[in-house]
Amino acid sequence: MEQPNPTGLRFFSLGGGNEVGRSCHILQYKGKTIMLDAGVHPAYQGLASLPFYDEFDLSTVDILLISHFHLDHAASLPYVMQRTNFNGRVFMTHPTKAIYRWLLKDFVRVTSIGGSPNEKDDNLYTDEDLSESFDRIETIDYHSTMDVNGIKFTAFHAGHVLGAAMFQIELGSLRVLFTGDYSRELDRHLNSAEIPPLASDVLIVESTFGTATHEPRLSREKKLTQLIHSTVTKGGRVLMPVFALGRAQELMLILDEYWSHNEEELGNGQVPIYYASNLAKRSMSVFQTYVNMMNDSIRKKFRDSKTNPFIFKNISYLKNIDSFQDFGPSVMLAAPGMLQNGLSRDLLEKWCPEPKNMVLITGYSVEGSMAKYLMLEPENIPSVNNPEVNIPRRCQVEEISFAAHVDFQENIDFIEQIRASNIILVHGESNPMGRLKSALLSNFSSTKGTEDEVHVFNPRNCADVILEFKGVKVAKAVGTIVEEIQKEEKEIKEEKEIREEDANIKSETSDVKLEKSDEKIIPKEGKQNDDNEGVIISGILVSNEKNFDLNLVSLEDLREHYSELSTTVLRERQSVQVNCRKELIYWHLCQMFGDISVLEDEDEITNVVENGETEKKINDDMGRLVLEIMNDLKLTVVNHVATLEWIQGLISDSVADSIIAILMSVDSTPASVKRSSNSCNHNHTHGNTLQIEQTDDVWKIKQISKLFTRQFGDSFTLLLGKNNSDNIKKEENTEVKQETDDIFGMVTIGKNTARINFSKMKIVECNSNPLKGRVESIMNIGTDLVASLC
Ligand SMILES: [Zn+2]
Ligand SMILES: [Zn+2]
Repeated sequence: MEQPNPTGLRFFSLGGGNEVGRSCHILQYKGKTIMLDAGVHPAYQGLASLPFYDEFDLSTVDILLISHFHLDHAASLPYVMQRTNFNGRVFMTHPTKAIYRWLLKDFVRVTSIGGSPNEKDDNLYTDEDLSESFDRIETIDYHSTMDVNGIKFTAFHAGHVLGAAMFQIELGSLRVLFTGDYSRELDRHLNSAEIPPLASDVLIVESTFGTATHEPRLSREKKLTQLIHSTVTKGGRVLMPVFALGRAQELMLILDEYWSHNEEELGNGQVPIYYASNLAKRSMSVFQTYVNMMNDSIRKKFRDSKTNPFIFKNISYLKNIDSFQDFGPSVMLAAPGMLQNGLSRDLLEKWCPEPKNMVLITGYSVEGSMAKYLMLEPENIPSVNNPEVNIPRRCQVEEISFAAHVDFQENIDFIEQIRASNIILVHGESNPMGRLKSALLSNFSSTKGTEDEVHVFNPRNCADVILEFKGVKVAKAVGTIVEEIQKEEKEIKEEKEIREEDANIKSETSDVKLEKSDEKIIPKEGKQNDDNEGVIISGILVSNEKNFDLNLVSLEDLREHYSELSTTVLRERQSVQVNCRKELIYWHLCQMFGDISVLEDEDEITNVVENGETEKKINDDMGRLVLEIMNDLKLTVVNHVATLEWIQGLISDSVADSIIAILMSVDSTPASVKRSSNSCNHNHTHGNTLQIEQTDDVWKIKQISKLFTRQFGDSFTLLLGKNNSDNIKKEENTEVKQETDDIFGMVTIGKNTARINFSKMKIVECNSNPLKGRVESIMNIGTDLVASLC
C-alpha cells in the first residue's frame, strides 16, 4: 500500500467501507496509528469474514478502540490479538468488555458447530485465544480521557446498545470523532448518543440507513404489537430473530409491558413469549450489573420496584430448542439476528412452511444474510444442515425496524452539531451511503468554495482518504519566556493606559504589530481582551513527536530543559583596520550606544574622552582597548585593528553591523574631523528637539538620513512630505501619508518601530526604549555632524 503521508491525516477502511459488517478503520497521523473496531462480516464465514488485515502491518498500531460488542465491530479482536503481529493496546467500555466475553464464547461455539469437520481450520480462534486476549483488554469510562503516547481519546455515550461508545480522538490540535454505531432516539433503557462538548475536525460516521426515515417510535411499537397480537390470536407462531444482547432486551421490555396490559385477550398466559439464547441467563445478570449505565427511566424503575427490570413477568428463557414444547401459538425471540445458523435458523426452517406463522425482522439485515434474503419472500430456503434440501417458505415475512441506528434526519442533525469540515461515511451499503453523501453535499452546498467547505467522503475498503490541515498551532509557553510574556503584557497595559490618556490629543495610535513566522501571538488568558491585542514573543518551538506537545521556550531554557537537543552557538568575529585614534572610536560608540563598559584600557584614553583631559599627551596609541557594548558584543582595538566578537542573534547581528559601520567611517566623518581638531568647546546637547536652522535644511536632513541608512540599512525608510520630493531621494514606501511638509523617517526592526520627524529632529513615535535610545544617539551624532564647524 501507499506510504503514509507524513503531514496529513490518512484514513482508510480494512472493512466497513461501502458495506455493513467487518468494521475496521485505520487512522494515521504524524507517526501515530489508531485502529477503530475489529469486526467480522456476518454474511461470511471463517477467514473470509475478516477485514482485510493482510493489507496493513498491524504491528504499527498504537491503540485499538472497540466501539461496541456487536460481532461486526468486535468479533475479530481475539484473532487480531492472538493470531497477528498486532501489539498495540486495546480499549473498550466496561459493559462492552463484560458482554463481549460471553458473546464471543458463544460465537466460537456456534461457528465451530456450524463448520464441517474439514472446515475446522477455518475457525478464526479458539476459546483459549479468547481468554488469553481478554485480560489484555483495557477499559475506559464514559467521559474519561486516556492518553497513550500522546494520543488522547475520550468515550461518549453512543446509544445503540449497552456499552456502545463514540470516541473523540485528539492528535495534537486535531480532533477526530468516530461514532461507531449510534442512535439518537430515546428508548426504554438506553441513553441516546451525546454531542461531545468540543468540536471535531473530522467525523467518521455510520450511514446504515442512508437517507431513509424511521417511522415515529410510537407508531412502530403499535404496529409491532398489533402484528404479533393478530398472528398469535389466529394460532400462529411469531419468530423474531434478534441479536442476543441489546435490541432483544428493548423488544422484551415492549412485549412484557404489552402482555401485562392485554392479559385477558392473550389468554392469561396461554400465549408464551420465549427468549431463546445461549446467553439468556447471562444477559440478565449483565443488564442488572449495568443498570447504572442506562437511562433515567430504567434506573427509576429499578430503584422504585427494587427488582431487576430485566426479569420479565411474561417471558421465559430457553437455553436450547430441545427443551421447547411447541404446542400452540407463541412468540419467540431467538438469536442470532440474521438467521445464518443456530437457534433462530432451526426455528425458521421448522416454522416457515406454515402460512399462519410469521417471521418478524426488527434488526438491520446485512447483504448476503438469510434475514435479508427472506425479505425478498423467496419460494424456498436452503436448509443450513443439509444444503441439498430446499424448504418451502409460506410463512408471512414482516419487517419493522427497531435497529438502533440513526435515520437520515437524526444523522444530519447530529452531523451539523459536530461541525466537522471533513465527513467520512462508513458502515453502510454503497447505495444508501451514496445517497447520504449527495444529501449531505447539498445540505452543506453553501459552504462550497469557502474556508469552511464541508467535504464528504465514502471510501471503499483499502482506499485512502488523505486530509491536509493547515491548523493553528497552539504552543505552551514554558520557562523564563513566561516572565517575558508577563513583562510584555504589563508594558502593553501601561502603554494602553498612556494612549488612552493621550487619546484626545493624538490622532493616530502607535499600535504597529508586525508578525513574523517564528513569532506567536499569545492571547491573554482570563483578561479582558477587548481590542484583541496580543503579546508577540520570539522563542523556539520545541515539538515533541511522541506526545504532540508543542512548547515555546527561550534559547537559555532550551539548553537547560532539553538537554537531548543539541544546540549550536555561532560566535562571530570580524576585524577591521582603523586609521584613527582609539578615543575617537570610543567617543563615537558612546554617542551611539551610551552604556559601554570598559574592560581594558591600557592607554587610559577613556578618561581623556570622558573628563576632557585634553592636556594629557597620549604618545603611544598602541595599547589595548577592550569594550563591552550592549552586554553582548566585545570590541578589542589594538594596533589599529578593531576586532568585534559576538554571539549570533537577531539583535546582536544588527548592533554588530552598526558598530562595523561606525568603525569603517569613523575617521572620515565631519564630526571626527571636528573632534580631532578639538578647536571648540562645543557643548553637546543631547536633547532630541534641536531645531535645524532654516538654511540648508534639506542638505542637513540628507546627511542625517544617510547616517540612518548607514546604521539601519533597509530597516530605515525616508518618508517624503509633499513638497520635498525633488530634493530627497524618492522612496517607494508611501504607506504613511504626511499631513505637513515635514520630512519623516521610519526605522523598523522586527516588531519595533520608530518614527522620526527630521524637520523637527524629534522622535514622534517609538514602541521600544532600546530603539528609541539608539535613534536618539544617531540623531545627536547627526546634529553634531551637520552643525557648522566653529
Ligand atoms: Zn452495532
Ligand atoms: Zn454495526
